[in-house]
Amino acid sequence: MDGKIHNLRARIDELNLQILELLSKRASTAEEIGELQSAMGLSHYDPVREQEMLEALTFANRGPFTDGTVKSLFKHIFQASMQLEESQEKRRYLTSRDTRRQDTVVMVGEVPIGGRHSPVLVAGPCAIESASQVEAVAAHVAGQGVTLFRGGAFKPRTDPYSFQGLGKEGLRLAREACDRHGLAFVSEIMDAQHLALFEEYVDMLQIGARNMQNFTLLKAAGRSRKPVLLKRGLSATVEEWVMAAEYLLNEGNGNVVLCERGIRTFERYTRNTLDVSAVALAKLETHLPVLVDVTHSGGRRDLLVPLTKAGLAVGADGIMLEVHPNPAVALSDQKQQIDFDTFDAYLDDTGYHSKLSEKRLEVYGF
Ligand code: PEP
Ligand code: MN
Repeated sequence: MDGKIHNLRARIDELNLQILELLSKRASTAEEIGELQSAMGLSHYDPVREQEMLEALTFANRGPFTDGTVKSLFKHIFQASMQLEESQEKRRYLTSRDTRRQDTVVMVGEVPIGGRHSPVLVAGPCAIESASQVEAVAAHVAGQGVTLFRGGAFKPRTDPYSFQGLGKEGLRLAREACDRHGLAFVSEIMDAQHLALFEEYVDMLQIGARNMQNFTLLKAAGRSRKPVLLKRGLSATVEEWVMAAEYLLNEGNGNVVLCERGIRTFERYTRNTLDVSAVALAKLETHLPVLVDVTHSGGRRDLLVPLTKAGLAVGADGIMLEVHPNPAVALSDQKQQIDFDTFDAYLDDTGYHSKLSEKRLEVYGF
């Protein structure tokens, strides 16, 4: 009796191996189908095809398993194949951590962003308004050790009658001020046709929240050699944001920094809601540096310090904020820009640059 069981078990072991071999062959074939479907932009899940296969299998079933058992066994196989196809597809994304394990470090002029570098601070006015205004802000922030300057020359405004920016003249004024103070210059580009102009004046192209899915603009910026700061759209999911970055990388521009700037929620005490989990997620899912724009996130001066701490605590590689010599007369974002005294107090309260990054290393280990 014992000998018979032993032989039957040996037969089961052999059958297991044969089943495994067949399953592996089936999985490889499913992968090939998956690749073709991806190339054609088709979905991997085809319920009609799945139903046809189950019908063919139950028709061929001669027992001893019931039709229900055969269906359930094969459904597991179908599901495993689908997961395989999906994980293969995910691995191919250039932005994915699966494609590149190490953190990408993006150089903006001489300034590194990402990896184990200290968090950066990008500061400057919402909009470039005049030669004296841009000079005053550049001089002040540079004097405080800031190396990255922001300022919009082409402004995406909700109200078409509000200040739209100085355009090319604004870029020129900011470039000159940045050169005088050794600052790298970041500015928002709204139109793919402006690329040559921006390449002449800026060190980093900013793609704003409202243009996050302007695919023509993304493709143009992807062909540029300038690094890109890609803001998250007002109502964009993390996946949509990362896919927008994928457009840039796919066109050959790997120097991309993501920027969370708050999303639209039901909350009204803040202008937007800073999605800290998105910052952590973007760091986990991609290898790209991530900044947090604390000005547009909360839209409140009294939140700048806590939102900075929150952003850095979840792993942000830097912070963006808006500074104006006299916010009360600013031509845009009056309510949330800060004056020089408030900026200095902000630096003290956050311990930016040195204390806070050292403290973060001590507390969180990164
Ligand atoms: C900006 O940074 O000037 C700006 C317009 O921000 P956002 O695109 O995030 O609204
Ligand atoms: Mn602004």
